[in-house]
Amino acid sequence: MNKTLIIGGVAGGASCAARLRRLDETAEIVLLERGAYVSYANCGLPYYVGGVIRSRSALLVSTPEELRERFRIDVRTEHEALSIDRANKTVTVKDLKRGTTYTEAYDTLVIATGSSPLRPPIPGIDSPRIRSLWTVPDTDALKKLTETAASAVVVGGGFIGLEIAENLRHAGLHVALVEALDQVMAPLDFEMAQLLHEELRGQGVDLHLGDGVDAFADDGQGVTVRLKSGAALRADLVVLSIGVRPNSALARDCGLTLNARGGVVVDEHLRSADPSIYVVGDVIEVEDFVFGDRAMLALAGPANKQGRIAADNIAGGDEVYRGTQGTSVAKVFDLTAASTGANEKALIRRGLVKGEDYETLVVTQNHHAGYYPGAAPMLLKLLFSCDGKKIFGAQIVGREGVDKRIDDIAVALRLGAGPVALKELELAYAPPYSSAKDPVNMAGFVAENILNGLVRLADWNETETDPEAVVLDVREEEETVAYALPGAVNIPLGQLRARLGELDREARYIVFCAVGVRSYNAARILSQNGFAKVKVYPGGTRFYRSTHESEWELEGAPPAPAQEPDPTERSTSDMKQITLDCCGMQCPGPIMEVYKNICALSDGDQLEVSASDPGFAKDIVSWCRRTGNTLVSNERKDGAYVAVLRKGSGAAAASAKPVAVQDTPQGKTIIVFDGDMDKVLASFIIANGALAMGRPVTMFFTFWGLNALRKDRKQPIKKTAVERMFGAMLPRGARRLKLSKLNMGGMGTAMMRKIMKDKHIDSLEDLMKKAMENGVKLIACSMSMDVMGIRKEELIDGVEIGGVGAYLGDAEDSNVNLFI
Ligand code: FAD
Repeated sequence: MNKTLIIGGVAGGASCAARLRRLDETAEIVLLERGAYVSYANCGLPYYVGGVIRSRSALLVSTPEELRERFRIDVRTEHEALSIDRANKTVTVKDLKRGTTYTEAYDTLVIATGSSPLRPPIPGIDSPRIRSLWTVPDTDALKKLTETAASAVVVGGGFIGLEIAENLRHAGLHVALVEALDQVMAPLDFEMAQLLHEELRGQGVDLHLGDGVDAFADDGQGVTVRLKSGAALRADLVVLSIGVRPNSALARDCGLTLNARGGVVVDEHLRSADPSIYVVGDVIEVEDFVFGDRAMLALAGPANKQGRIAADNIAGGDEVYRGTQGTSVAKVFDLTAASTGANEKALIRRGLVKGEDYETLVVTQNHHAGYYPGAAPMLLKLLFSCDGKKIFGAQIVGREGVDKRIDDIAVALRLGAGPVALKELELAYAPPYSSAKDPVNMAGFVAENILNGLVRLADWNETETDPEAVVLDVREEEETVAYALPGAVNIPLGQLRARLGELDREARYIVFCAVGVRSYNAARILSQNGFAKVKVYPGGTRFYRSTHESEWELEGAPPAPAQEPDPTERSTSDMKQITLDCCGMQCPGPIMEVYKNICALSDGDQLEVSASDPGFAKDIVSWCRRTGNTLVSNERKDGAYVAVLRKGSGAAAASAKPVAVQDTPQGKTIIVFDGDMDKVLASFIIANGALAMGRPVTMFFTFWGLNALRKDRKQPIKKTAVERMFGAMLPRGARRLKLSKLNMGGMGTAMMRKIMKDKHIDSLEDLMKKAMENGVKLIACSMSMDVMGIRKEELIDGVEIGGVGAYLGDAEDSNVNLFI
């Protein structure tokens, strides 16, 4: 009789034991587990802490008794393997309950010891309030702490850290999350992770990205977490989730080969250098399925499959483990983030070049038919080889249906399909589940268009990397009220053919719409009309905003308390309250409906709008600000985004047009003559301060000060050679202004920007935006514009052009007048 000894009784070890019994009724199977539990659901632990999984026993998939009874496995919990003697084929075991040590012989040994969470030697880390979440006892301890805690800091934004953060919020704690990288969820590319950042902040998680922990200090009442940036966070408990290391000491000490990261090296049959020893799970190095080289990936699916394969081979089979592609999925509050294969960061690290070796695409599409209630958009990124033969990987972020789409692509990748094959997949369709062209099919269509040269997609940051390109926004004008792209030329798609003459055929274009469909149509019109340099911004303004807006606090903040309507104007009984259900409508549907409906209402009437499009929650904030309507509330209810608007702002007359600033005495006027960053910054700080005191502010920009008002993108307008030269020499927009002193070839300015960012001080661009949104009147001096060859189209939206008279008129009503 063959005796198999298995060390480790959870994912890999337990699945190996059970499979082996099914294959060989005569085998002697001994399973050693140092913990008190076997075969438990470690993936479910965070949800038990948060109270989502209520029953602790539900976590225990099989008990030792069940394994003994059903599978006749000699399960020994609280038995730790101390060492392996390969020559004599024995393992020294410690019975942790009795404190005794004994030797156990084996014919075949399986090492399935998993991994352990990292606890680096950070000062103060030994506090009992600083926990990891890995085992059932860890879970019990953490759950107990949460019962009396009000706040927590989670260190690490990987999938376990995010799951813990969500569950601690669920348990009612205030949660801060600290992540050393500039993004959470490392398997996603930076731009894809931005939606998660929005979601986390929107769910009340205080997110600290690009920051690490310097020290912990427990004063008996709580822990202070000191960050490298100098910030200090105070919490009742801390959860560390900063990665794992393989439990490979046993393997190392008995002479098995390890890689540089401590992973045990095995062959394709999962056998170690010693043919009597199989090794499975988190503790091994695996083949990277996409590239064929070696990798380490700690995931439950691979560990379970490896346990099964090892059992097959022990029972005389010839099973091969063909590698891990890293397919994973995680719930992050109301979003799901999933990935398979390699991300773009990994391709770049391997020296692959975009456009030569690989291509990427991003599509945004509803998870099921838009007309069926509850449709929610998902963002899908696909990476594939330029020869069209290989899918390198995919990432998806969305609210619904993400898991099924990532699995479709994971299967295609595993079976060696190219990207275009995705268009051929016949996927199940009915309106409540999908669309006739599923998002996965859509990725296949777009991949084909890219490979055939029918469309070129811009990178998510191409408006920065190619500042000379013209940003062409083909959305309807009404949509731009809710969100205007900085520096964009707006020509709605329906008008594009008729207005081609306004555009310069030689310029480079980045075409935008809300989600990327209209911009693709526009790009096709342009390309077939002699415009050779046209790119579509994939994912549209929705994607752009998630990757470019740091001011979630501004846009997503709860609305200011609404003023009561003036009772002298209309009695409340006259006021209408109407509801509008825009669920299922894709952007721009909801905002267009709001616009239509608000026009038909009278001052003081209320409109309650529900939408399933997450972008609506942001759009409605800026739309109300810009149209002078009042946002009474803006919240999530039963999976929908529900906004209540009151037409007008109380007594003020409202319209669906941008509001003008009211003139009252005690105004402040500022002449901005200089174009140095620090001076313009100072002028906007003063302007915003005056606004906060309720004073009307007029800023008059003349000569070099005009540079601050320029759009940061080149505009497709015809100029004389001298004007063009002048325009090229002057800084284009606030982002490009330099410090008046210590600029040091741009280094000083960059340092100043960094310091301001680290200290959470608004950038000049943010200050300008705030000032404009809050009603500062910006006047560009028409005479200086003429002299400097600056045209109206080159100035940011919302700037008035005026002569000195316009400025002096406001100066008359002011009691402060500054020249900067
Ligand atoms: P484990 O399942 O960890 O089992 C190893 C066992 O070996 C342990 O019980 C340990 O006590 C025992 N052991 C170690 N040394 C000895 C010794 N000397 N003697 C005796 N026993 C020993 N993966 C996913 O794919 N999806 C998820 O959603 C997911 N969520 C997770 C959430 C949490 C909180 C955690 C902790 C993990 C999660 N994982 C998830 C990862 C997944 O659980 C692991 O990849 C998987 O369990 C690894 O299996 P394994 O058999 O290698 O190790």
